[in-house]
Amino acid sequence: MIKTERILHLKSCRGRKVRVVREHYLREQVPCYSALCQADCANDGKVLPADLTHYVVPDVAVVVDYLEILEFRELQGIVFTQTACQAVQHSKGRRQYNRLRNLLKDPRHDCVLFANEFQEYSYCPREKGESQEKWQTRCVYSAAVWYHNHLAGMMDVVMITEDQDAVAQYSSLNSGVYVISVQDFLQNFWPELQAAHDLYSSLSQALQEKESEGSQREFAEHLPAEVLEAGIKSGRYVKGSLNINKHHNEAFIMTEGLSNKSTDLSCGVLVCGNKNRNRAVHGDVVVVELLPKSEWRGKVTALVEGQGEEKGGEENQSKPMPTGRVVGILQRNWRDYVVTFPPRDGTQSQSRNSQRILAVPWDRRIPKIRISTQQADALQDHRVVVRIDSWESTSLYPNGHSVRVLGRAGELETEVQTILIENCIHVPPFSDAQLREMPGNSPEKPWRVDPAQVAERRDLRETHLVFSIDPRGCEDVDDTLSVRSLAGGKLLELGVHIADVTHFVAEGSLTDLEARSRATTYYLADRRYDMLPAVLSADLCSLLGGVDRYAMSVLWELDAHSLAVNKVWYGRTLIRSSYQLHYELAQALLNGEQAEVAELAELGPEERDAKLAQLTQALEMLTHVARHLRAQRDRGGALELEGVEVRAQLDEERNITALVPRQPLEVHETVAECMIYANHWVARKIQETFPHQALLRRHPPPRQEFFSQLVDIAAARGFAIDTRTNKALAESLDQAVDPQDPLVNRLLRMMATAAMSQALYFSTGLESQDQYYHYGLALDRYTHFTSPIRRYADMVVHRLLTAAIDVDRGAGPGRALASNKELEETAQHINNRNRAAQQAQKMSTLLFQCLYFKERDPQTDQRCVADAVIYSIRNNGVLVFVPEYGVKGPVYLRNREGQVVSAGQDGSCEWQSGSIRQYSDHVTTTSSGGSSTFRLFSHITVRISVRSTSCHADSLNLEVISNKPHAGAEPQQAQSQSQSQSRSQLVQEVVRLAEEAYQQAQEKAARRPKLSKEEKEFSQSKTPNLYSLLEEVRELALLDLDGAARVCATTA
Ligand SMILES: [Zn+2]
Repeated sequence: MIKTERILHLKSCRGRKVRVVREHYLREQVPCYSALCQADCANDGKVLPADLTHYVVPDVAVVVDYLEILEFRELQGIVFTQTACQAVQHSKGRRQYNRLRNLLKDPRHDCVLFANEFQEYSYCPREKGESQEKWQTRCVYSAAVWYHNHLAGMMDVVMITEDQDAVAQYSSLNSGVYVISVQDFLQNFWPELQAAHDLYSSLSQALQEKESEGSQREFAEHLPAEVLEAGIKSGRYVKGSLNINKHHNEAFIMTEGLSNKSTDLSCGVLVCGNKNRNRAVHGDVVVVELLPKSEWRGKVTALVEGQGEEKGGEENQSKPMPTGRVVGILQRNWRDYVVTFPPRDGTQSQSRNSQRILAVPWDRRIPKIRISTQQADALQDHRVVVRIDSWESTSLYPNGHSVRVLGRAGELETEVQTILIENCIHVPPFSDAQLREMPGNSPEKPWRVDPAQVAERRDLRETHLVFSIDPRGCEDVDDTLSVRSLAGGKLLELGVHIADVTHFVAEGSLTDLEARSRATTYYLADRRYDMLPAVLSADLCSLLGGVDRYAMSVLWELDAHSLAVNKVWYGRTLIRSSYQLHYELAQALLNGEQAEVAELAELGPEERDAKLAQLTQALEMLTHVARHLRAQRDRGGALELEGVEVRAQLDEERNITALVPRQPLEVHETVAECMIYANHWVARKIQETFPHQALLRRHPPPRQEFFSQLVDIAAARGFAIDTRTNKALAESLDQAVDPQDPLVNRLLRMMATAAMSQALYFSTGLESQDQYYHYGLALDRYTHFTSPIRRYADMVVHRLLTAAIDVDRGAGPGRALASNKELEETAQHINNRNRAAQQAQKMSTLLFQCLYFKERDPQTDQRCVADAVIYSIRNNGVLVFVPEYGVKGPVYLRNREGQVVSAGQDGSCEWQSGSIRQYSDHVTTTSSGGSSTFRLFSHITVRISVRSTSCHADSLNLEVISNKPHAGAEPQQAQSQSQSQSRSQLVQEVVRLAEEAYQQAQEKAARRPKLSKEEKEFSQSKTPNLYSLLEEVRELALLDLDGAARVCATTA
């Protein structure tokens, strides 16, 4: 090891230049991380493969300015030098540096870090008079040469740099290293990778523009970091994340810990207008200074276009609240944004080269972004992914660059891709490397049970009647059930057998990393993106009928009479499911109806009857147990919440003819109850074995103020809703039934759902045990175990359960468990991805609803007219729910011209000049035609149309046409042939996709909120409070940020 001195010129935070002398140690052995290494480097971890055509060593400026290009997974064999990494850290800040570190850590990216400045033979000290940039480039070049020599010339090494002098200088040295520009590199090595070429030109364009910025100040400068910090400490400033209201030009700061004790900031700080927001973008962590009390303002509460429902509570108040202005930004949380290049109508700023376009983000909370491009004309009306580069105080808008073009706005694929990007959902096809990890299974070489596994697992193939009950056409069967009588009928054994996914997916493998990063399977209205490759999700991990499969099982031994638990067994098993039933079939068997069981079709009548009797008996036993379990939880205060699911109904030609609610069956609840039971017992097991590092799921009690709207509205109808406990809430909801109108109870339940907190995954080490409670399910501990094919949380739980079983055997967990901190990170990540999955699903549902109505003429097509119920009163309109389509939205009673809706004798409505007045349970308009009243829970008739904007998503528009209930006209027969031929291409595509979506929708159906049967609603107060929703469904419902909007209907 050689000791030398290294001189650093650093800038202090106050901008003073400091000269620092550091001891610098050089080593002979610095790992090269190449599979070709002949020198016994200590290459642990990620290694560059030997079978590449070349390695790439990017220069400092390339890493700093073009990192996004190096992020393409296609680019392999990248060597990042320590010199370049340090430069990123110093010049680009933490955000960009973390991005680079993540890239280096990610095994799916073929790149390594070379500590060139510690390597004796590659290090070069800076020479007198040499500029920092020249020296850095020399260091990188020297590192490239070192690689070439170290690998004995077996691998070509390419250095890429934007410094033309360096290209000329180093190319002539004949060192064996190629030195070329980024552009030449892309053209020569990646001529087909158009996306990288586009990104390069966009980035270099943005860099050039940056140099020609104006100098007039548009915003106040941000305060230096140390001033912000001191201000927060002293309580002068407040720190929090900026949340912009998409309907108004106002934003809220969600405060993190109250720094200012004297003021009540618990409901946040209001920031009004652009100037006060001072270049902060939605999601940024900012520091605000409170304005004097005289300048405090209230929130805007009027309905605005496209607004859904918000959580109850303070929303209706408009009294002044703490108001402030942004003085600094602690952390930028910029992501990829979808923008639309507006039509070039001459109003665009025609600056110097007329190539700077103000693109409009799809997300209304994001400011317009200035993009420099040479394709401005070609990109008109296209949706494009962009990234923000900077926002100087001299600029009204942030500057950015385009990343890739999605397609023309309004086209289905463009819109679906937009939804994915806006929710940061990244679901590329599984890579070859990932697929190579999968077990083989082909007709020539079918997958077989491993004899070693037979020895290790409990074999249930001969002893247990195992079956599955799923939606029709389900491919990924992750749960199966068994039930049998023991000890001459004294005991009952209930079994839940779940696909053993973690047997096939090793922790830390590429497949595991991909599954973790997705965290869930994403279900959109017309398609899904799987968390695991199909060979697992649809085949080897799918517990199909008649084939041997590995499972993770929980077996309960119950007292046949009291159903008390005698003992529980957890472990790995080998099963063969005898029947793959669907819900309707299972229910038919239970009801004693004639039903065809495919598995028995080949048998003779006697044998068939015997088997059928055996199966039916098992189903009855299961129903009996499930009813008991449910009753047990109901006593604890479990909630029955309400969601709506709507399915697209297709005609013979597979056109969407109607959106209809789905029918629930008791067998749904039976299966759900068994799954809840398994999840609960697994939660107990892993929490007891690993008290500080188990992954559980909790559902915090709701904040009481969110219930105020529910309580008030119910009171308006004469019902008392008690929200003090979940039990009281459940019981009072059961009582709140209007025999004349079953919708009243449904609406109240939907509001209760909307008021709920989200259910969340967490690590047990983080919370005290009283925080583990699951409010909605009324269970002291809960987790997710039963769907490892489509939820990563379940895979984590399977691994924990395996480790717990090992501990029981005295073996100790087979491997190091994730620490509490690591587990909590995983939990946060999964929570975040679940929110994204829900948002995307909601958006895609709205997209398809809009497509459905877009093709219909609202003036003539009866399907555009529907019954609606008023569930909230505002000062310029009401919020309604349309049961037929599961749509929720605002209906305006006063328009922008100041006219109000006036209803005639027959109920028909028209606009007239007049006034409007809001009361607690109704709103009244007065005009020359008299006064009209719109009451809570009253039925009105609305017309549904689509409001289109080119830059954002379409939305549904509800317009009142009568203040009386809809006459209930049956939807008319499908329109004539000629009209269906004139359907736009878009809808033809929707319909084609709907066909494929049908199967997927069936699978999804079981996981989603169910619409209660009419009969059931009428008799709700008489029957025991049974769960009508599947567990996952309910979990989804509880998850949503603004649950009400979710209830706002889903097409299948
Ligand atoms: Zn080596």
